[in-house]
Amino acid sequence: MACTHTESIEFKAPFTDLVCKQCLDRGDKWVHLRMCMSCGNIGCCDSSKNKHARKHYLRHEHPIIRSVEPGEEWVYCFIDDEILPS
Ligand SMILES: [Zn+2]
Ligand SMILES: [Zn+2]
Ligand SMILES: [Zn+2]
Repeated sequence: MACTHTESIEFKAPFTDLVCKQCLDRGDKWVHLRMCMSCGNIGCCDSSKNKHARKHYLRHEHPIIRSVEPGEEWVYCFIDDEILPS
């Protein structure tokens, strides 16, 4: 089924430093970074121990993220659990 949540997309590109601030504050490390496309928040991926990108979605109900890793362009919807065609 096609994702119906793309209306929440406000940000296409990160406007902030590419760090997971919540991990940085705790002195934790992350694996990959994801950007919330509703508000531009940067969080760490599900392979990271803190999963801040997913926690951000659960707390704020911002379902669409994109990878901000170099060379990665994909966009993902947490609700549909699928990579969206770009
Ligand atoms: Zn969706
Ligand atoms: Zn994190
Ligand atoms: Zn957000």
